[in-house]
Amino acid sequence: MGQKLQPTWDLDVIFPGQSNSEEFRQFVDEVKRDIAELTKEVNHLDANGGTEAWEIILEKLEVLTKRSREMGAYISCLSAQDVTDKQAALYVAEAAQIQASSSAMTKIVDQKLGAITEENWNILLEQEAIKPLQFILTERRERAREQLSKNEEILIGDLAVDGYHAWNQMYGTIVGNMKIDIAEDGETQSYSVGQASNKLSTPDREQREYVYRQISKAWKDHEDLFGQTLNHLAGFRLQKYKHYEWDNVLKEPLEKNRMKEETLNAMWGAIEKHKPLFVEYLNQKASLLNLDQLSIFDVNAPIQSKVEKKSYDEGAAFIVEQFRGFSPQMADFAQMAFEKRWIEAEDRAGKRPGGFCTSFPASEQTRIFMTYSGTPSNIATLAHELGHGYHQYVMNDVNGLNQGYAMNVAETASTFAEMIVADASVKMAKTDEEKLTLLEDKVSRSIAFFMNIHARFLFEKQFYEERKKGMVGTDRLNELMVEAQKEAYCDNLSEYDPHFWASKLHFHITGVPFYNFPYTFGYLFSQGIYAYAQDYEGDFEEKYTALLRDTGRLTVEELAEKHLQVDLTKPDFWENAIEICEQDVQAFLELSRKLQK
Ligand SMILES: [Zn+2]
Repeated sequence: MGQKLQPTWDLDVIFPGQSNSEEFRQFVDEVKRDIAELTKEVNHLDANGGTEAWEIILEKLEVLTKRSREMGAYISCLSAQDVTDKQAALYVAEAAQIQASSSAMTKIVDQKLGAITEENWNILLEQEAIKPLQFILTERRERAREQLSKNEEILIGDLAVDGYHAWNQMYGTIVGNMKIDIAEDGETQSYSVGQASNKLSTPDREQREYVYRQISKAWKDHEDLFGQTLNHLAGFRLQKYKHYEWDNVLKEPLEKNRMKEETLNAMWGAIEKHKPLFVEYLNQKASLLNLDQLSIFDVNAPIQSKVEKKSYDEGAAFIVEQFRGFSPQMADFAQMAFEKRWIEAEDRAGKRPGGFCTSFPASEQTRIFMTYSGTPSNIATLAHELGHGYHQYVMNDVNGLNQGYAMNVAETASTFAEMIVADASVKMAKTDEEKLTLLEDKVSRSIAFFMNIHARFLFEKQFYEERKKGMVGTDRLNELMVEAQKEAYCDNLSEYDPHFWASKLHFHITGVPFYNFPYTFGYLFSQGIYAYAQDYEGDFEEKYTALLRDTGRLTVEELAEKHLQVDLTKPDFWENAIEICEQDVQAFLELSRKLQK
């Protein structure tokens, strides 16, 4: 990379003018018009009227799917880069409406798929144009066959806008209005939840505990409101399940993630078995912080702060270089993304917090959003998002209907990329102290996935069981949360966070039920691939790309069987993956004990 990189993204090559773009306005109108037209055509389609009509519909659906994603991606970029952009906010609301009409249309397509007779179905799947879509069409047909009547489904979808998803919006509004008073250096200021939470990473324990208490108090003050949002959105979901006659609350999330319950159980089982070493890490961390035991607010506390920062250009060069060791194609992709300004990384006010990667499948481009200030964790995030971008990149020529991979495998490429860079950072650390900090950063990810996320899963499962019987009061929610955390952290913390069910957005996201275990799956799945890569003698890049390209058209069990020759319903794969994480824990324990002497 010859000249200095610009840390801001280029959105104008996609649509010139950003939120005031006439081209974009026109594009949105076209998407709306196309949805309306295709809805009409689908309504008139005779499900058993021959294969040709189906081929035409599915082709149009593919184009429309890509264009809708393109539209959504542009809007998320606009609203992320400037939270005060009012036009972008209007587009967000408009997109929600468009999304509702688009899913109403796909529901009709699915119902028609369900109405095809067995005989015609077999003929359809034999058509050359349809063959590549076998998996996705079969999946949609089977799901459609479980659904209620067309009118009931449409009614549920329409009612969900204000009766279900609205609870998630309500949650966001309440959280957005919350203010937390924090005294620092003799001065008290009001902070948003996000700003206050950032102050939890202070190395000063007394201040950290004080910030935690202030934040907890704010959640407690609002707990009755959040008890309502959570109970009502869960009530809506369960009511729907009741009409479908689904008893198992995991049915929907498992199907969305195309995985078996045996796989989920094998994964948690392996994690539970390996927890003792991670508990040892927690104890060692407590000792480094001069504590008998960690409290929940110490788990993510920094142990040191001596880590070198890298400029954006240095960070970029480091990532590209590390990627190259695993896959030249991935390195070239990253280099292109930096040079063509596919990344918004500038550290400035008015940007949304957090990071994401979004795809423009019609333009075959991606955009990455984050705020870069030079820390190792920024570099890890950047690598993570580039991993997402690379995943989309290798899928560019895959049929648009086969690009819909589930969340559990969505995190595979990203975590894999992040791991390459994090590993390299540890290896290249200049001092033992720096190495320890970087190792700690890696291990803390395992703690998050094996303990924090496990607690979320345990809580949610128990909460939904109890919610089936009626409203769950806030005292009980607090109790369930602490019970789940105790189990997940092996009863090894001195204090737990009873209001975590209120503070964690994920419990309130309506679009994705059980927004937790897919994270852990993705993390371990990519660890397993990483282990595989290190032992693999052939062309790993080719193997890896083939696996990524299949993520939207196989179940996870099939994906692992085909590309890695492993059975995910058995503990072996998971245990191997966890052992990779344990190596970091061992290294951390040894090094920190050595430094303590
Ligand atoms: Zn990600």
